[in-house]
Amino acid sequence: MTPTPVTPTARRLPEETTVAILGGGPAGATTACYLAMAGIDHVVLERAHFPRHHVGESLVGATNRIFDEIGFLEKLDAAGFPRKQGAVWVPKSGKNPHAIRVVPDKTFGGLDYTFHVDRARFDHMLLDHAETLGSPVYQGALVNGVETRDGRIESVQVQHEGETHTLRTRFVVDATGRNTFLGSRFRLLQKDTLFDQYAVYAYWKGVGRGPEETAGYIHIHFLPSERGWVWQIPIDDETTSIGVVTEKADFQRNGQDSEAHYAHHLARNPELSRRLEQATRVSNLRSEGNYSYSMRELVGPGYLLVGDAARFVDPIFSSGVSVAIYSAKFAAEQIAHVVAGERPEAEAFGAYETQMRAGVELWYDFIKVYYKLQNLFTYYLRKPEYRDQLVQLLQGNVYDARGITVLERLREDIRRIESTPGHVLQEGLSDIPI
Ligand SMILES: Cc1cc2nc3c(=O)[nH]c(=O)nc-3n(C[C@H](O)[C@H](O)[C@H](O)COP(=O)(O)OP(=O)(O)OC[C@H]3O[C@@H](n4cnc5c(N)ncnc54)[C@H](O)[C@@H]3O)c2cc1C
Repeated sequence: MTPTPVTPTARRLPEETTVAILGGGPAGATTACYLAMAGIDHVVLERAHFPRHHVGESLVGATNRIFDEIGFLEKLDAAGFPRKQGAVWVPKSGKNPHAIRVVPDKTFGGLDYTFHVDRARFDHMLLDHAETLGSPVYQGALVNGVETRDGRIESVQVQHEGETHTLRTRFVVDATGRNTFLGSRFRLLQKDTLFDQYAVYAYWKGVGRGPEETAGYIHIHFLPSERGWVWQIPIDDETTSIGVVTEKADFQRNGQDSEAHYAHHLARNPELSRRLEQATRVSNLRSEGNYSYSMRELVGPGYLLVGDAARFVDPIFSSGVSVAIYSAKFAAEQIAHVVAGERPEAEAFGAYETQMRAGVELWYDFIKVYYKLQNLFTYYLRKPEYRDQLVQLLQGNVYDARGITVLERLREDIRRIESTPGHVLQEGLSDIPI
């Protein structure tokens, strides 16, 4: 599809709109693209001025479908981002890394790869793309309040260019990411007690990327601590993102500052240490906490939560951007049904909630089983009868779970291992309930 420019960047906020989209990250920008294509009046309110930094650089194959539908895939492919065709799991010992090719089937844009992206540039491109489709995008527009009447949002309060505006709106799509604007305001947020993690990361140059054929893969280096791992993501030919993820309690227990914590863990996987021998850090250290969480409800009268504003699961499988853009599609589709008078709002928004929950809960189940016994996961990857299902999950094709039996099989095996006295794999079991 070739995008058709419809309106230039809007400068003054209107007084009224049909859909106010809060946040212009991947979820907000993609919602805007779908609404623009459906001819539904909306505005995007983004507090930052893009480009702005963001964590989350590795995409999954399922994103190709959405990018193709909104006419963005060609631009993305032409932008020169590193191509991603798989993942390498490096065990704690650093020995015998396990590489798996995870390639899309060329259905979308003929591409059998996805991408690793510098998020500042990628998010900017996507938001610009929404504008070329006709979305009025307001940057530097901070949403800091909502007014409700009889439980329904009537307007949002926006700080823009030094003024406070009241924007009346029929619907609100909250795409404010881990800021969780509405979820926090309406007390919907529930902290996840299983995954209370903490990430510290930086950019490096000169990192060894291992054998040529897997140099463009994401590498996950495991650490000898519960739920501890390090990502290695190529950002361009020279730059590599290296991020340490551990339990927050692990960070607090050691009483180290972020620098010491980062250095300590980078030295704990022998293969990773080797890769960093000739490398130089070229950025400040950044950290991310505040994950994971879910929301009691994903919709309410007149509003829907999308992307990280709706749910955040551990990023081990690079699911975030994919969830953001799929939820954007599903939300925009349901809004279109309501606007067209085809479905009552409660029914349409309920359908959105069901669709979104089905996908993220499958991701979540997958992550839990994975952390429960990592060795079993790599063993299953080698089994031809389960490999395809695992690859389907790793690609992010999680919204239609029909035929996905592998997680149940993994759970059965785990229960058997747990209940078999002296089983050799018991040592690797974590305390996660499955
Ligand atoms: C440590 C870590 C590693 C990750 N790794 C990956 C990965 O490898 N791959 C992957 O796909 N995902 C990864 N993720 C997840 C990924 O970063 C997110 O899922 C993704 O950015 C979600 O997109 P979004 O549009 O929902 O939110 P965001 O990208 O966060 O966008 C939200 C936008 O809303 C704006 N905003 C916030 N509040 C307001 C307000 N009040 N008014 C106006 N605007 C507002 C913000 O400025 C921001 O631009 C990772 C996350 C973490 C924490």
